[in-house]
Amino acid sequence: MAEPASPENGTTRVAVQLAPMSVPKASDVLADELRERILRGEFPEGTALPPERELVTQTGMSRATVREALRILEVQGLVRIKTGRAGGAFIQRLGEESIASSVDLLIRGRNIRLAALHETREAIEPSCARLAALHRTDDDLAALDRANDSIARDGSLGEFLQANVDWHVAVAVASHNELLNGFMLALSRAIYTSTDNQGFVDSAVRQTTAQAHKSITEAIRAGDPEAAVRRMQRHVHGYAEAVMAVEDRTSIDVEA
Ligand SMILES: [Zn+2]
Repeated sequence: MAEPASPENGTTRVAVQLAPMSVPKASDVLADELRERILRGEFPEGTALPPERELVTQTGMSRATVREALRILEVQGLVRIKTGRAGGAFIQRLGEESIASSVDLLIRGRNIRLAALHETREAIEPSCARLAALHRTDDDLAALDRANDSIARDGSLGEFLQANVDWHVAVAVASHNELLNGFMLALSRAIYTSTDNQGFVDSAVRQTTAQAHKSITEAIRAGDPEAAVRRMQRHVHGYAEAVMAVEDRTSIDVEA
């Protein structure tokens, strides 16, 4: 609101209301700029960013700021920092591992509910199965068969759980959709832990699981997307219901 002009000196004073401002850290600004350019593909994989002192000269920022920005990019998996004479910050392509570790952090940091994991699996896995029936290669089928063989073996609980996860990831790989594949790989650790329940995984569960995997594999082999979706839906949903019925944990503990 404007105050009345003061008659003495003829100036008008305006009452300006300011809110607290948050100023981004210089290192975040530099990291954002570099990240954008890396993601736009300006620097091919494996090339080195300009050396630290050159970045200091180019940007007018301090050495500490430049170093901090590079460290942020390293944590995000966008560059690999090598020390020594031939060292520097080298551009890295974001791989599935970085999706996996972000999802892992999300699950561990936010105490994601077990039911949320099951809902996500029910959303993603039938689509993986449908695409797998359409796009699977001979190598994909061989990987599914291998997982089916090891799940049929009467191994330890750990071996059973691993064979289970391997099969589900192999279906995602066979979908030939890199994002679905990345998500499933990211979820695989949580899936393993969430099914790690000695009381639940008895020989009947093992048998049902092995049979379900086999019949879904056959639909994928036959190139029958409808059957693959339907069977995967039934399998993931049935498994979730059975686990929830006996499970007393409500969140997922993924070990570091
Ligand atoms: Zn399964």
